[in-house]
Amino acid sequence: MLTALQQELDQRSRDGLLRQRRLLDSPQAEHIVANQKPYLSFCSNDYLGLANHPKLISTMQQAAGASGVGSGASGLVTGHHRYHDDLEKQLAAFVGLPAALLFSTGYMANIGVLGALLGREDAIFADKLNHACLNDGGYYSLAEFHRYAHNDVATLEKLLQASTAKHKLIAADAVFSMDGDIAPIPDYLALCERYDAYLYIDDAHGFGVLGEHGRGSLSHFKLKSPRIIMMATLGKAAGVAGAFVAGEQVVIDYLIQKAKSYVYSTPAPPALSATLSESVRLIEQGDDLRQHLFQLIAYLRDNLKLSRWRLMPSDTAIQPLMVGDNKQALLLSEYLQTHGILVPAIRPPTVPVGTARLRISLSAAHRLDDVKQLTSALHQAESVL
Ligand SMILES: *Cc1c(COP(=O)(O)O)cnc(C)c1O
Repeated sequence: MLTALQQELDQRSRDGLLRQRRLLDSPQAEHIVANQKPYLSFCSNDYLGLANHPKLISTMQQAAGASGVGSGASGLVTGHHRYHDDLEKQLAAFVGLPAALLFSTGYMANIGVLGALLGREDAIFADKLNHACLNDGGYYSLAEFHRYAHNDVATLEKLLQASTAKHKLIAADAVFSMDGDIAPIPDYLALCERYDAYLYIDDAHGFGVLGEHGRGSLSHFKLKSPRIIMMATLGKAAGVAGAFVAGEQVVIDYLIQKAKSYVYSTPAPPALSATLSESVRLIEQGDDLRQHLFQLIAYLRDNLKLSRWRLMPSDTAIQPLMVGDNKQALLLSEYLQTHGILVPAIRPPTVPVGTARLRISLSAAHRLDDVKQLTSALHQAESVL
């Protein structure tokens, strides 16, 4: 087996697909120290610049003093602390749904929710570009798994129409993590009503960024329905770690009993929940941060004038630059790196073959000068590569 593993790694390397980790020696921020060198970074999902926020650091320190550093046991044993409970109620109110449940990560939430709510007689309808953990959740649930082309509402409708499954669930990223575009969620909800289906929205990249006061994609579209279940991660715009699922009270009550990644897993430390409560307050008060972020997005889109590579259509903080070829994407990323700028090259299997890209992610922590620096480095790269 070890020889086979090595051969596969060697092949990945020859294909320009070997992934390497950078070693970080600084907090996550717009300026970081990686592999002992300083860089301007466009790599993180810390869209509001909260991951290194002084108020959150001091909250975490105080909360650790008051609640310790560990949860001790599963939430159903003794691990459900008042800080967890307060955060769940706060998150439910913030996104405007009746109840919420915390998970340690978004990955665990998607697997736990789909696994608990659906079984062999049911069916999931999933966008082809959904995040890997939504697919894993789908497979794990044993439900029939249908995939429709990206944002293809017409095909989705045909699939729903033809389905004889007991329960039907449409599952989609709200903001696609490698594309930055927003799913046609109102159309999905209309289909749910027409075909008696439910809607599971993964708002990892919309929460904190889109909607009124950062309430997320459902608020962006002003949608409300008992057919909606949403998930958002807390390690992206919220700047900390973890995830929550929100929906009708009966859904949350059911998940507490049946979501295995909740039941059989130790919750994140209560101090993280206390920190996240503060983070949600910063998100809610963060209209100025979001305004600045959207100014940066507009600047990049208005000023990047390349002929070989194009920004993909996106109105969010994720601004991918389509390159196509794996090695070319890597070369461009390396060129920027030698000029002190980090932008990750995203290659298959994370994105479809032939669509390797640079994933530029912008944050409210960036200054306009940072984005100007990126823009001019990309113009230079096009003239020399
Ligand atoms: C990051 C991400 C997840 C996983 O969340 P983690 O908390 O990082 O495990 C799930 N869905 C989408 C769309 C994501 O981008």
